[in-house]
Amino acid sequence: MTPDVRDRADRPRRPPRADGRPEESCPIPESAWDRALRLIGQIDEVALACHVTPDGDALGSMLAVAFVLRSMGKRVVASFGDRHFAVPRLLRFLPGQEMLVPPEAYPAAPELMIVFDSSTFERLGLLGANAAMARELIVVDHHPSNEGFGTLSLIDATAAATAVLAEQLVYRLGGRLDRDIATCLYAGLVTDTGSFRYASTTPAVHQMAARLVATGLHTDEIARELWDRSPFGYLKVLARVLDRVTLEGGLVWTYVSRVDRAAYGLPYAELEGIIDIVRRTDEAEVAVVLKEDDQGDWQVSTRSKGTVDVGAVCTALGGGGHHNAAGYTSHDSVEETMAKFRRELGKA
Ligand code: AMP
Ligand code: MN
Ligand code: MN
Repeated sequence: MTPDVRDRADRPRRPPRADGRPEESCPIPESAWDRALRLIGQIDEVALACHVTPDGDALGSMLAVAFVLRSMGKRVVASFGDRHFAVPRLLRFLPGQEMLVPPEAYPAAPELMIVFDSSTFERLGLLGANAAMARELIVVDHHPSNEGFGTLSLIDATAAATAVLAEQLVYRLGGRLDRDIATCLYAGLVTDTGSFRYASTTPAVHQMAARLVATGLHTDEIARELWDRSPFGYLKVLARVLDRVTLEGGLVWTYVSRVDRAAYGLPYAELEGIIDIVRRTDEAEVAVVLKEDDQGDWQVSTRSKGTVDVGAVCTALGGGGHHNAAGYTSHDSVEETMAKFRRELGKA
């Protein structure tokens, strides 16, 4: 019989609760955590996945849990379902990438699959099919739109990042924060709180950051990897994109085409930060950046300053996200995409 991992009494079972919330108000019941530990305890190979074109929260949460499972003696496969499988340049500093396999090498019907930061099957891209075939599917996520598409939900829409839930899982599995795990979780926490600037930055978030930084993280180096470097071509593409930025009432928007990127050999993944420049516009409540991916589809990034729920707007357009940060995929032209977006925004 597999020993119950919770019996390692020498280790803390879960991180201290720093936000003063009573236990009952946590949306994930203890019984769900218990069931997750039981499932993981019973199965030797665990398949992990996160959403396509992963951000720091998706990849960081998945790799942190992968480290702990590996230290428990599990076989671990971890992946994300992009057609062109590559870790975005700005996340290449994350440790544990030797545990990643391309979607082609992923088990077709995993006995146990755990998915991170993904609100739907669609967000898993190519691995959505594997998730649908998994015997047990644990969904670890913090998107309010996530209705729980697995056999077990570890979903908390009040969590600032999936990394917050991943840290819980690490502790509950009997793992200890080392610098590798902390680096992965920190990448998730800083990404989703906008470097501790968004409203989701509670005292508990800072307490978690303190636990992570105490392992010896070089937070300056992590910040530079994530936000403060880019190839020269980024500046040239940015110049074009900002030159065509449009302000219409409370909406500011622009787009980046494949042609713009091709001129400077700039990969799609380098575009993530553009929305953070556009959304600073004082005159706008909502910001939109349309990014054409390598397949010719438009990935639409939207941000709100608070009065408009862009999560609802993007959900209506086939995507999802949070109240103030959301997105969707459009197969229409730029003009048509914006016409549909304006129509939906008008209803919100
Ligand atoms: P992004 O603008 O890419 O940083 O995405 C912001 C948020 O929107 C993400 O954290 C996701 O929650 C959500 N999101 C982005 N694209 C999609 C999509 N195609 N489908 C569902 N949700 C999305
Ligand atoms: Mn994400
Ligand atoms: Mn997230």
